[in-house]
Amino acid sequence: MIVQNAIICNKCGELIISKHRHDYVECKCGDCVVDGGQEYLRRVYKPDASYGDLSWSIEDEIYKECAAAVEHAIDTNRNKFGIANAVLRALRMRDRVIAEGEHRVMAAYQDELMVVEPDGTVNRYKKVM
Ligand SMILES: [Zn+2]
Repeated sequence: MIVQNAIICNKCGELIISKHRHDYVECKCGDCVVDGGQEYLRRVYKPDASYGDLSWSIEDEIYKECAAAVEHAIDTNRNKFGIANAVLRALRMRDRVIAEGEHRVMAAYQDELMVVEPDGTVNRYKKVM
């Protein structure tokens, strides 16, 4: 699922976002266009134009789990923080969010782990049992 369909024009610097399928959005200098919303990534630009693409996607299943988490939070009268927590929990269940101070496992092979520590350093650990 496309979460954000957006580019930034390198001439005028405007960030333009297409929010739905037929949302055709042109930057203020007219060099670049985004279109397609969450359905497809369409770009229209002048031959000498350039832009940076800020679009990103996530697996449909994870997207649906986040939407279901929002729906459940609303149905159970959570406030904006409760809704944010529900989405973060859904993403964390899929290892898409790491908690503050938590390390992230980059690779695991046999009895060894390669880990990115909270400070950004990389370490290798061997399981001792
Ligand atoms: Zn522009």
